[in-house]
Amino acid sequence: MAEVFTGSFTQQEPIPEEAVAAALEVMRSGRLHRYNTAPGEEAEAAALERDFAALTGARYCLALASGGYGLTCALRACGVTPGDPVLTNAFTLAPVPGAIAGAGAVPVFVEVTEALVIDLDDLAAKIEASGARVLMLSHMRGHICDMEALMALCDRAGVTVVEDCAHTMGASWAGVPSGRFGRVGCFSTQTYKHVNSGEGGLLISDDAELMARATMFSGSYMFYDRHPAGPAAEIFDTIRYETPNCSGRMDNLRAAILRPQLARLAGQCAAWNARYGAVEAGLADTPGLHLIQRPAAEGFVGSSIQFLMPGLGTKAIETLIAACRDRGVELKWFGAAEPAAFTSRHDSWRYAPPQCLPRTDRVLAGLLDMRLPLTFSLEDCALIARIVRGEATRIARAAA
Ligand SMILES: *Cc1c(COP(=O)(O)O)cnc(C)c1O
Repeated sequence: MAEVFTGSFTQQEPIPEEAVAAALEVMRSGRLHRYNTAPGEEAEAAALERDFAALTGARYCLALASGGYGLTCALRACGVTPGDPVLTNAFTLAPVPGAIAGAGAVPVFVEVTEALVIDLDDLAAKIEASGARVLMLSHMRGHICDMEALMALCDRAGVTVVEDCAHTMGASWAGVPSGRFGRVGCFSTQTYKHVNSGEGGLLISDDAELMARATMFSGSYMFYDRHPAGPAAEIFDTIRYETPNCSGRMDNLRAAILRPQLARLAGQCAAWNARYGAVEAGLADTPGLHLIQRPAAEGFVGSSIQFLMPGLGTKAIETLIAACRDRGVELKWFGAAEPAAFTSRHDSWRYAPPQCLPRTDRVLAGLLDMRLPLTFSLEDCALIARIVRGEATRIARAAA
C-alpha cells in the first residue's frame, strides 16, 4: 500500500497559553483601542512596537491592521504619489502589486532568477528604463537576494528600497535582520506568516520623518506621543497637518496575542528549519527535481519549501500535483494558467500594464511549493518527502 499523509498544510499551531491569558486581560479591561489607556498604562500595541524595534534593532516601529496595509502605508510615507512607477519582483504574492496599486502607483515587474530572487541585471535595466525611484523588494517565500549587491545598485541609482518581509520575520542576511537593509521593512502577522494574530502588520525604520508620516497615515488622531517606539513629537510639527488619516491601526487585543509569540520567535524559526531540512534531505537527488541552493549568508526561515521541475511539461506537472494530492500532499504550482487560492502570477494582475518576463515565466512554469506548518512533526516531513520523491520519480520516468 502506498503511504498517505493525513495532516493539514493549512493548520497552524494553537496560540500559546500565555498569549491567550494576555488577550483575556485586554478583553476584561475593555480597552481594545490602542489610544484607550488608563492613567499611567502602556497600551499593548505600544509595547509590541517597543518589543519589535528591540528585536530587529530598528529605531522605530509601527503596528498596523495588516501586512498589505503596511506596504501601502510605507510607499506613501516614502513619498510615492499616484502615477509613479514602483519596481517589484515579478514572482511575489498578490498583496504586493496590490499595495502598489493601493498607493495609486504603477507596478513595474523585475525578473526573478532560478534561485527565486530578484534578477539584479534586470533590476538595473528596469531602473534605467522606467525611471522608478522606489523598489518594493519582496523576499518572496523567504528567499533573500545578495543584499549588499542590491543595496549598492539601488544606492548608486538613488532608488529607495522598501522591504516586503512577510516571509522573512526572524531571517537575516550576513547576520543583519531582514527588513534592516532598506529604508523601511514591512512585516505581516497574518495567520500563515511567522507569528499569528489573524491579521496584522509591522513597519520598522530608522527614518524619523518617514515613520512620522506612516504614523499619521495609520490614523493616530494626534496621539503620536503615545508611541514609545515612534519619532519624537517635534518631528510631527508640519507632518501632522500634511498627512491624511487613512485608518489602519493595530488594536491591543492582537498586540497582546503577538508579544508572547515574538518572545518565542527564535525557537519557532529553528523548528521550521529542522522541518525544512528534513524535507530537503528527503528530496535530495530526486530525478528531474532541483532544490533551491541557499547561500551561506542567508539566514532563512524554512516555513515553506520550493523546488523546480524544469523538464516537465504542463500535463506532467498537473499529473504530479494530482498524484501527490491523492496521497495527502498539497503542492502549489505558480505556473498554473489560472490563479488558485494563494497562487497567482504577474499576468493575472491585469490592473498593471502587461509586461514581458520570459525568465520569470520559465521559472514559474516548473516551480512547486509546499507550506511546512509547525504542526508537522519531523516524521511527517520525512513522509511528505518520500511521497513527493516517489511520485516525481515515477512521473519523470514516464515523461522521459
Ligand atoms: C502575506 C503577504 C503579505 C501581506 O499580506 P497580509 O495578508 O495583508 O498581511 C505581503 N507580501 C507577501 C509576499 C505575503 O505573502
